Amino acid sequence: MLVTPEREHKLRTVLSRRQPDLTVLMEQVNKPHNLSAILRTCDAVGVLEVHAIPPQKGLPVLEEAEAGKIRTYNDTSGSAAKWVGLRVHPDVPSAFAYLKGQGFRIYATRLSEQATDYRAVDYTQPTCILLGAEKWGVSEEAAALADGHIVIPMLGMVQSLNVSVAAAVILFEAQRQRLEAGLYERPRLSPQQYQAVWEAWSDP
Ligand code: SAM
Repeated sequence: MLVTPEREHKLRTVLSRRQPDLTVLMEQVNKPHNLSAILRTCDAVGVLEVHAIPPQKGLPVLEEAEAGKIRTYNDTSGSAAKWVGLRVHPDVPSAFAYLKGQGFRIYATRLSEQATDYRAVDYTQPTCILLGAEKWGVSEEAAALADGHIVIPMLGMVQSLNVSVAAAVILFEAQRQRLEAGLYERPRLSPQQYQAVWEAWSDP
């Protein structure tokens, strides 16, 4: 089936706003509905590709990740998985080596008094937001390797937000800063990246 001119216009407009230097790393985020919600937010903010370190061996999510995909609920993500790439890493050191090699600064989200308010970060620079597992948060190993620790101030009775909510709060601050800096006004992808994504997106 051919892409209609209207559809092509929509796809190219979205593609021209994709931000190859803004991403998240999900460390053992294990609930499919959280993964789906994070992907959906990433699509809305213009993230090109997200990263994940799957939960421990033996859990179904890892077996699927090893087969090249992580289970998400397409009904809740609104099929965002088609529009946002997902790169799976086996462990913390390899994920950090890859992201550092790409020039990202990695900010660990941490519920700690030493962490910086998330609004103080400059998200117009190449940025990766590290998100932790629903039960125990970001690991000590990953926290030690991160370039900084950030927190969304909590002024109520509960200690933490749902991980997908925390991701949305931080990513929309990144979007606000990037809109202000004009980073959505011109294509950010290299011609090769653009062509590869275009071919994937326009393939029904
Ligand atoms: N007991 C865990 C802890 O101490 O980190 C709570 C984990 S929380 C439910 C799951 C993830 O959501 C966290 O690892 C972090 O990525 C994110 N998160 C939740 N609330 C946050 C906040 N106020 N600031 C920054 N990140 C937050």
